[in-house]
Amino acid sequence: MKSITTSSESPVTFLGARPAREKTFGFATGRPCLWLAATVGDRGAQAFERLQSPADLSRWCGEAKLVEAAPYVTEAELEAARVLREAIYRAALARREGSAPMPADRETINFWAAQPALIPQLSEDGRTCSRSAPQPIQAVLALLARDAVELFASPEAEKLKICARPACASLFLDTSHPQQRRWCSMNTCGNKAKKLAYRGQRAKD
Ligand SMILES: [Zn+2]
Repeated sequence: MKSITTSSESPVTFLGARPAREKTFGFATGRPCLWLAATVGDRGAQAFERLQSPADLSRWCGEAKLVEAAPYVTEAELEAARVLREAIYRAALARREGSAPMPADRETINFWAAQPALIPQLSEDGRTCSRSAPQPIQAVLALLARDAVELFASPEAEKLKICARPACASLFLDTSHPQQRRWCSMNTCGNKAKKLAYRGQRAKD
């Protein structure tokens, strides 16, 4: 299934296993494409993989509420998601630095952006919408790639920041006013930084 894995010469191979609690997903980085990028933890230090199995990607899709039910995921789809994720992360870094994305990353993102998207369907009472597709994971990847294209091609991309906890290095969109947000998530990195600062203060007292 060449069309799914697309062209990337560098599959993610540097990621080790961590205890189960590290597989908690975060959705505080501001955009679906950045939520996906954040499924790698501690990119600035010893990076670790939160999408270790197809079941993890299925759970992520459910928690991200991109589709109705957690879909079935194949190994090839998991690998495709990782390839797209790394392309999005690198392209976001390039966008932040004002440089062009690597051609292979741009190709990967554009390939997925061109795939059939999720189909929205209005419910009986006309008040809610369900999203599904014959190939749900491929449609989710299409949605994520389109989200990345729209972000990078808009002034919103000027709000891309890197988490101030050096080991984390997650990308997030700072939509706060006056754009002084420092951490990808207050619940994780923000709290860790506060605890460190508190300990430092106690040590001085
Ligand atoms: Zn962080």
